[in-house]
Amino acid sequence: MDAQMLSIAQARKELDSGNVSALELTRACLRNIEALDGDLHACLLVDSEGALAAAEKADERLRQGERGPLLGIPYLAKDILMTKGLKTTAASKILENYIAPYNATVIEKLEQAGAVLLGKTNLDEFAHGSSTENSAFGVTKNPWDLSRVPGGSSGGSAAAVAAGLCFFALGTDTGGSIRQPASFCNLVGLKPSYGRVSRFGLLSMTSSTDTAGPLTRSVEDAAIVLSVISGKDERDATSLNLPVPDYSKNLDKGIRGLRIGVVSSDLNEGLNKDIKEAFLESLSVLKKSGAEIVEIELPYNKYSVPVYYVITPSELSSNLARFDGIGWGMSTEESNNLLSFYKENRGLGFGPEAKRRIMLGTFALSAGYADAYYKKAQAVRELIKQDFQQAFSKVDIIFSPSSPHPAFKIGVQINDPLAMYLEDIYLSGPSLAGLPAVSVPGGFVNEEGKDLPFGWQFIAPLAQEELLLQVATAWEKVNNYFKRQPKF
Ligand code: GLN
Repeated sequence: MDAQMLSIAQARKELDSGNVSALELTRACLRNIEALDGDLHACLLVDSEGALAAAEKADERLRQGERGPLLGIPYLAKDILMTKGLKTTAASKILENYIAPYNATVIEKLEQAGAVLLGKTNLDEFAHGSSTENSAFGVTKNPWDLSRVPGGSSGGSAAAVAAGLCFFALGTDTGGSIRQPASFCNLVGLKPSYGRVSRFGLLSMTSSTDTAGPLTRSVEDAAIVLSVISGKDERDATSLNLPVPDYSKNLDKGIRGLRIGVVSSDLNEGLNKDIKEAFLESLSVLKKSGAEIVEIELPYNKYSVPVYYVITPSELSSNLARFDGIGWGMSTEESNNLLSFYKENRGLGFGPEAKRRIMLGTFALSAGYADAYYKKAQAVRELIKQDFQQAFSKVDIIFSPSSPHPAFKIGVQINDPLAMYLEDIYLSGPSLAGLPAVSVPGGFVNEEGKDLPFGWQFIAPLAQEELLLQVATAWEKVNNYFKRQPKF
């Protein structure tokens, strides 16, 4: 097995016993990026020099006897997280040459822990999308089938982890952007509770649902990363003031006696037939492991996609207003008055999907329409939250598919925004309710001779990531899907 395909836990043992150095692991990842990223286009920036220097520092700390869960482990970060001294573009032309003056808190925490930042990964512009096709810098390919998308918006991070370009990657999830690409690439994608991980230095999309979290090849790895990046941050007023447990401690507790809730309408006609069959089989598997399956209802959750697509454009139209070519963003020399200066810069700088959302959001917030759209969406959001609260008085965890189908072909959905918005049908509800949720490898379907992965989602009550990861581990233990790696 290639060194960079080891799990974080395995690499940890090798590093701690001196069998391998951080420098060797980093070089292995950089070699893989060099060899494979021409095909994948998962990375927007590779900082070889910085990575090698960070690896040397980690090796020095290891030689001094220091130990830590991520000391010397190479990773990539979605290019919407600020990285001091490195370009942070959000995959947008408007930030094409922007160099971040400070680190996001998650990057800072990983640096302190001695993790080695290799570079930045591709995404849909400003995280708007489900395929990475909205990137201003080209699409990322799915390592399971290069003619397909890796999902989005954290598609670069997902493709990179699946192909072994790094040991883990950071993504962000506002309405599905960690979980959906995890599902398309056979990975574990963890969206923490809103506020569990600081948003400081994450370029805001939808401030009320944005989260940062890991994409990994196993649940244990997700737990390790989450323990390092979580916690209250003075610089993010919405971060949760709760202690951070060691998330890897109770992973093996099993699911005997736990009640797992399933919503029968999740299995409606939109779901791929093979995935539906696999889902029903998975219920028997979970039962065999000792869980009780309980049918539940989330009556308002069916409105989560329309609610999400009113709230999200509203918030992002306001968040993106700062990119005016003066304080933030590219500027052209062409204009001779302020209004045309704004128009010129924003017109050239933003791609079509960002523009669509800015217009939708500005409309939904405008006087005379805010009551009918934005305020109504907020009211329904409250009902969706209550749905989940009520469900969690009956069950411990909720279980659903992650995505209605496996990865789709590049180009087929890009001109159909409604189809694209429906990608997150199972994922936007937990985002609106701020709940932690994880996508885990669920199995494979064969399309056109290729095995394509799909994922299952577990959802837990607020701040119960420990329980969430415990259940995800129990699922992982009874199958070997997560061990399969793409050959391309
Ligand atoms: N696909 C969703 C969207 O386009 C989710 C994006 C995200 O989570 N960043 O808005």
